[in-house]
Amino acid sequence: MDGIFRIKLMGLRGTMPVHGEDCRLFGGATSCVFVQAAGETVILDAGTGLSGNAYREFFGGSKRFSLLLTHSHVDHIMGFPAFPPLFDPACEGEVYLETRAGLDARAQLEALMSPPLWPVGTGAFKARVGFHDPGEGFSIGPVRVDTLESRHPGGSTIYRLGAGGKSLVYATDYEPESDAPEDFIRFAEGCSLLLLDAQYTDEDYRRTKGFGHSTIARSAAIARRCGAKQTIFVHHDPGRTDAQLLELEAGLDVPGLHFGREGEEVIL
Ligand SMILES: [Zn+2]
Ligand SMILES: [Zn+2]
Repeated sequence: MDGIFRIKLMGLRGTMPVHGEDCRLFGGATSCVFVQAAGETVILDAGTGLSGNAYREFFGGSKRFSLLLTHSHVDHIMGFPAFPPLFDPACEGEVYLETRAGLDARAQLEALMSPPLWPVGTGAFKARVGFHDPGEGFSIGPVRVDTLESRHPGGSTIYRLGAGGKSLVYATDYEPESDAPEDFIRFAEGCSLLLLDAQYTDEDYRRTKGFGHSTIARSAAIARRCGAKQTIFVHHDPGRTDAQLLELEAGLDVPGLHFGREGEEVIL
């Protein structure tokens, strides 16, 4: 890899995973992005895109990783309980998740990882795993991480990763209040890559307002306003087929703007 960042989109589907012939191109796995940034292994969200062995190529010899979770809606954590590195004694992981509803990061994950929903809790991990509240930000080696609170039912965290003059903003599960949300535009200004929620069409939005997701038209306007060098839409509606996404994509009027494909890689 030649860039500061190597980014691989592992899960783009929002709400629920889907499968079948009509989602081969954009994929059916839920939210997960692998990032190698200045030598650090960072994973954004732990949806079903985290499952499988693709993580191996993102782990250097150190077997260290940082998992940044936006929130604990199940489409963002479904892949966590069976993530193989958690059961590898040679691995070290730091998990970041904002305290919500009085539950810290570990307690939120334990809510999923406890009987009868799941047989074992976080105590079964063999790796050394730390749980943290991301607060306003922190650093992972040379990578600076900043956060912004999203507009989403129950809350969600928007992350900005910066290193070596490049930056990535991950803004999924975000319902902007307008086409020009000042706080977000300031936060994402000039980023190298913006991964932005665009789940709904304007027609969908008449019945989905308040569900916590953006529209394609609104997110295209925001992408233009914040001056992101490149924007990719994420959190595709589970009911949207490849053919429908291609048709919606053809209507986008921002150069390079597209709906993320599962397995797609970007080097910054
Ligand atoms: Zn979601
Ligand atoms: Zn959500």
